[in-house]
Amino acid sequence: MLFPHRIKKGGMEGGIFWFRNDLRLRDNPALAEAVEQCDLLLPVYVLDERLLERDRWGFRRMGSYRLQFLLESLEDLREQLRDKGSALLFRIGKPEETLTALAEAYDCSAVFATKAYAYEELQQEKALSTKIKTVFRHGLTLIHPDDTPFNPERLPDVFTAFRKKVERYSEVRRPLDSPEKIITPDLPDTPLPCPESLGYRLPPQDERAALNFQGGAKAAQERLDHYFWNTHSISTYKETRNGLIGAAYSTKFSPWLADGSLSPRMIYHQVEAYEEEIKKNKSTYWVKFELLWRDFFKYVAMRYGRRIFLRGGIQKREKEWQDNPKQFERWATGTTGDRFVDANMRELLRTGFMSNRGRQNVASYLVHQLQEDWRKGAAWFESLLIDYDPASNYGNWMYQAGVGNDPRDRVFNTKKQADRYDPDGQYRDLWLEQEPGDPVEFADTYFLGNSEEVK
Ligand code: FAD
Repeated sequence: MLFPHRIKKGGMEGGIFWFRNDLRLRDNPALAEAVEQCDLLLPVYVLDERLLERDRWGFRRMGSYRLQFLLESLEDLREQLRDKGSALLFRIGKPEETLTALAEAYDCSAVFATKAYAYEELQQEKALSTKIKTVFRHGLTLIHPDDTPFNPERLPDVFTAFRKKVERYSEVRRPLDSPEKIITPDLPDTPLPCPESLGYRLPPQDERAALNFQGGAKAAQERLDHYFWNTHSISTYKETRNGLIGAAYSTKFSPWLADGSLSPRMIYHQVEAYEEEIKKNKSTYWVKFELLWRDFFKYVAMRYGRRIFLRGGIQKREKEWQDNPKQFERWATGTTGDRFVDANMRELLRTGFMSNRGRQNVASYLVHQLQEDWRKGAAWFESLLIDYDPASNYGNWMYQAGVGNDPRDRVFNTKKQADRYDPDGQYRDLWLEQEPGDPVEFADTYFLGNSEEVK
């Protein structure tokens, strides 16, 4: 028999649950609805083959740091599904095609998924919806889109106006529990690939990394417990958040938020619990404040669609950009000669992470000092960042380039910033004086060069 695992039996309704950037069972509204509506559910993750390719600048869209983290998250998700009596089907391909084929093979009448907001993901939703019944539900934001006091088309262009409105008029919904049981037909266990089998070379672990990020909801919860309940770092977040070294200065939730192993509502309600049980201060509020920045860029993506990826940004503001590959390479490999920029770029190159302070400085430097096209910088970040998120990345880059929500040219003086945030030069020394090898060679081996076989 070609397809032994048909899931529509005896009039029962079979459906697919398509995991996207919502790799969790808890607080997953689309999954909760799928479990309720389907007698049998087929959980699927499709690694989009286009993300393994190179972009127009020659960078692999998903670099090895994020791929590794994603595979860990999927392994964790698979274990959680097993605990619920279910399994995870893994495929590599184009989601809109793979899902249609799976629906046919397994007799599923609908695909359920969390709604995405970035252009390419929306194109996938459209393409899929022409082939099969689809049910998309919101699940990525802190403030549910139905609870905002404005239509997405009338989103305030300035963050402060957005924040004040939602703080005044919107409530954060309570996170949903995991489904108790997920009934799935007997599925062949599809093993997850290793990065090497996809043509990737994994860079060695760097012991200077701010945190050894481990993918998955379990690790996310451990990080949350550590930051909130064990170390109480949350109660000094406002004072430390501009730090540069180590794990404690900021939450480091971003990689788990980006692939959805952690939901913003789960964090928010834990902050509230912390405020209730331990302490409420400016720092605890500031974590919620930052989560609203994340929401803001999601709403910007919803409102402006493809424009967040275009050169003129949401301002449609055309500027003259340089195209000097050598200059760009110096920036990307941390060899510009500006020690603050270089230290930050080396951290990104060696670990896939960079602080928010660092990101603002290096983006400003690329755009204003070197005058390189901001989209090329954003694409380098997209490839390298372990926490890449389309809306946050392109939203912040547009902002720095003066084509986004703040039309002013916000130029960071990297010398002054270094004096202020790295007064004794400890951060610069950490990344520049203790180099394990040539950064250009490193970038060439793991990210840029042809030595890396791209399938
Ligand atoms: P914390 O300081 O602990 O903040 C808590 C959470 O609030 C973060 O995890 C994040 O979800 C959210 N947050 C904080 N600041 C921002 C912000 N400026 N914009 C959006 N959300 C924010 N963040 C990403 O998650 N993915 C990206 O691809 C990304 N690209 C960026 C590119 C540039 C040029 C800049 C300036 C910022 C970018 N950021 C991005 C935002 C921010 O730098 C990171 O979210 C943050 O550094 C992650 O560390 P953390 O989790 O410890 O943050």
